[in-house]
Amino acid sequence: MHQLEHIGIAVKSLSHSIPLFESLLNTNCYKKEKVESEAVITAFFSVGGQKIELLESTDPDGVIEKYIKKKGEGIHHIAFSVNDIEAEMKRLTEAGFVLLNDKPKPGADNKMVCFLHPGNTNSILIELCMEKP
Ligand code: ZN
Repeated sequence: MHQLEHIGIAVKSLSHSIPLFESLLNTNCYKKEKVESEAVITAFFSVGGQKIELLESTDPDGVIEKYIKKKGEGIHHIAFSVNDIEAEMKRLTEAGFVLLNDKPKPGADNKMVCFLHPGNTNSILIELCMEKP
């Protein structure tokens, strides 16, 4: 793992939460992006080299909608940047972790991503992300 890249926060409404985080962090949201594969719209804030990613569901059956129904709004995942995502996925699999996708998939903010099953990470959903080449 290279460094903490971002913290993903599940929210019910970006139109409510973007101004809230702008006020909280004293910085503007610099990007909003729809990620079709995850059925979310994301909004990004930059804080001292790391990012906060707000996630609003676009689908009542989507993962974020389900998460909010079960646990409410809040921290959804922690993302680490890696230099070689395939090598890191192989290393983690060999170390006994379970990946939620076999291949890196396109994520927000020009990244290839892979999630780890929270069952063996102390219930924390971990995302690996690598800048698209
Ligand atoms: Zn993320």
